[in-house]
Amino acid sequence: MLSHYRVVVIGGGVVGASVLYHLAKFGWKDVCLIERSVLTAGSSWHAAGGFHALNADPNIAALQAYTIDLLTEIEKESGQSVGMHMTGGLTLAGTPDRWEWLQSAYRIYQSIGIEDVRLVTPEEAGKLCPVLSTDGILGGMWADREGYVDTTGTVHAYARAARNNGAEVIEHNRVLELRQTPEGWDVVTEKGTIHAEHVINAAGLWAKQVGRMAGIELPVSPLSHHYLLTETIPEIAALDHEIPLVVDLEGFTYMRQDQKGMLLGIYEINHKHWMMDGAPWDYGIELLQEDIDRIENELRLGFERYPVLQKAGVRNWVNGAFTFSPDGNPLVGPVRGKPGYWCACAVMAGFLQGGGVGKSLAEWMIHGEPEADVFGMDVARYGPYAQNKEYIRQTTGQFYTRRFVMTYPNEQLPAGRPLRMSPAHSEMTAAGARFGVSFGLEVPIYFAPSPDFVENPTLRRSNAFPIVADECRAVRETVGLLDTSGFSRFEVSGPKAQDWLNRTMASRLPGPGRARLAPMLSETGKLKGDLTVFNWGEGTWWIMGSYYLREWHMRWFEAHRTEGVALRDISDAMVGFSLAGPNARKVLKKLTDGPIDALPFMGCGTFDVGLIRAKVGRLSVAGELGYEINCNAAEHIALRRTLIEAGADLGLREYGYNALLSLRLEKSFGIWSKEFTQAYTPGMTGMDRWIGWDKGDFTGRDAALRERDGGGSPQVLVTLDIDALDADADGYEPIWRDGRRVGFVTSGGFGHAVGKSLAMALVDRDASATGTALSVHVVGVERPAQVIAPSPYDPQGNAMRP
Ligand SMILES: Cc1cc2nc3c(=O)[nH]c(=O)nc-3n(C[C@H](O)[C@H](O)[C@H](O)COP(=O)(O)OP(=O)(O)OC[C@H]3O[C@@H](n4cnc5c(N)ncnc54)[C@H](O)[C@@H]3O)c2cc1C
Repeated sequence: MLSHYRVVVIGGGVVGASVLYHLAKFGWKDVCLIERSVLTAGSSWHAAGGFHALNADPNIAALQAYTIDLLTEIEKESGQSVGMHMTGGLTLAGTPDRWEWLQSAYRIYQSIGIEDVRLVTPEEAGKLCPVLSTDGILGGMWADREGYVDTTGTVHAYARAARNNGAEVIEHNRVLELRQTPEGWDVVTEKGTIHAEHVINAAGLWAKQVGRMAGIELPVSPLSHHYLLTETIPEIAALDHEIPLVVDLEGFTYMRQDQKGMLLGIYEINHKHWMMDGAPWDYGIELLQEDIDRIENELRLGFERYPVLQKAGVRNWVNGAFTFSPDGNPLVGPVRGKPGYWCACAVMAGFLQGGGVGKSLAEWMIHGEPEADVFGMDVARYGPYAQNKEYIRQTTGQFYTRRFVMTYPNEQLPAGRPLRMSPAHSEMTAAGARFGVSFGLEVPIYFAPSPDFVENPTLRRSNAFPIVADECRAVRETVGLLDTSGFSRFEVSGPKAQDWLNRTMASRLPGPGRARLAPMLSETGKLKGDLTVFNWGEGTWWIMGSYYLREWHMRWFEAHRTEGVALRDISDAMVGFSLAGPNARKVLKKLTDGPIDALPFMGCGTFDVGLIRAKVGRLSVAGELGYEINCNAAEHIALRRTLIEAGADLGLREYGYNALLSLRLEKSFGIWSKEFTQAYTPGMTGMDRWIGWDKGDFTGRDAALRERDGGGSPQVLVTLDIDALDADADGYEPIWRDGRRVGFVTSGGFGHAVGKSLAMALVDRDASATGTALSVHVVGVERPAQVIAPSPYDPQGNAMRP
């Protein structure tokens, strides 16, 4: 062990070993891994080692596909067997909705280029897995590249391949303490102190404690998990091939062959947390006592699904623990305010995801950003609210219990809610508001006409469709009122504020009293934000953006902040409402004697609105005459009451974010995580329109210029009119032209004013001309579609600029 390394990876499970491997493989020298006991001594040694294709987040599904390919690669590179059993895998659907969902999932795989999957009938499923009872099964999805590995062999293969590339592995050496230094971190270990530029928390079951060593409270908790191993099963022993990995979603089990018997794993509905503050330091290669009463129901379903189990002897029970984040995805990336501290933890399926996590993290450290959009596993998708132990208990428990339970796109889950509420929350609730959640904040999604209204969970248009239609109509015809607390607000001030903003944003900056749409780019020219910059005058600026990116953006701002710039996230202190619609100005004029008539489109200024001294910007995501009225949190209720009273005779109606999503689609306005992500460029998404090419240097300029002058991006963003039935596109559905896949949907919905099922989509340039006939799979069914001119509603933008 040396006294100085560039990187210290803490933890020798499958994740730490993969991170080490990728760092070394990508060329970093002086990297070491420190393991408390021996490699695999956490969750990794007793995992079932299964890997399968499915993940609700297509970006994570793509990284899983990368891991599966990598497993055989590291075997070759290291000479260490990973015990690969590429048996193929089946995912079973046991309800009509699940079967539809699986059919749409199959199409989404096509969008992300995973071609080796196909749908199968129950009969085919039965043939593929002869010990399976197909009772109640409506269909399944077969994937060639599913199976299982030997877990210990895999971890050693990563480690050995890392060593071959110059990395070091130090076992039997616990990290005791971390101390931040100007150069990085002092890593105090049992064998001495190491100075490191970077430390990586890959401590698995101990991730919580290794977070606390740096003053971080990570939203992660272990839960216990069972599988059983049987004695030899004659029906399996008699086969001339291995049975496939099978996931029975409605049965809450996964199954694979183990020697000549079976392994049956259970996602317990009655979940159990284990050592929420992290495993004891002396926890070794040991198991927890099995708890069969708790899993009785799932076991019964498993024994019905695989009748051979009824006669099989159980050779072994495994009840072990592994870690979960609130949404079940990993926590990866740099931690805001802790330069040089990186996370690679809460990896629920290390043998399936470890490769992708290692690759992304190594790219991030070496190149400043990962190649793919990994927001779905970025540690910055959570904020301080998620440090709360009860929040972690509820959300991780909910994820675990629902691991195999179908969640509909319009379904709201209860764990950890309500937690953060805008001040007018109770009043909006009394007015019928139904809420979604964004970064812990309750945001109104629509206003139900009666307290008894219950939205039906569905893959199609729900019974809230007419409610949203009415809300859209009010915005288009009279005026709508929306709680805008669900946008982030950052205040930028100080003598160098303007210089910093000018360098950080790719757009020109607005003059005093003006606002401007501002793309933000990384050095490589990828998008980092679709922001709005407000210049309130006298050196005070605001940046507004997507609420759930608060921590993510703040991490970026702080990492790039320069001297003379003060930056504050004021999203909790400043909230507001927006007025949008032809009557918006009439409402506002009743409440202010300020020069509201003179406020131009994209203008902003301070106005008295009723009793409130408000910061008002004239812009609208809905594409109407619109005003965003910002106030202090303490004035939120008063602002709402004031606006509702003034708008009563002007047709004012409160609306929610579901209506806003429809309204903005009719204007072909993209939004973050759909049309704009950190994997996309300005040229692909039309964001280049807002770039201030002649303003001088800014972050990402060279790369953006290269894209522009190199003929532009091969894919472009278009608007589609889909001949849909009773469901609209949602995102990632494949788009076809004459049987060839030419792109995918970024987002979709119904445009109530234009009466069309709309989508925005990234398609090949040669399929992007207006009028091009295409087709799209919507909930698994192929529907005709056509490229239409952008902004089907009010293409000239007159409604916004009366
Ligand atoms: C019963 C069961 C079945 C499973 N089945 C599957 C499956 O089929 N497929 C799949 O992909 N996943 C499966 N998993 C999950 C899988 O085990 C985990 O996702 C994976 O092991 C996580 O790896 P890790 O490297 O993050 O953590 P761990 O394996 O817990 O490794 C963390 C390591 O860090 C070390 N460490 C911690 N603190 C320190 C410190 N202070 N100093 C030095 N070293 C430290 C520990 O000793 C440990 O070795 C299963 C888990 C269980 C319990």
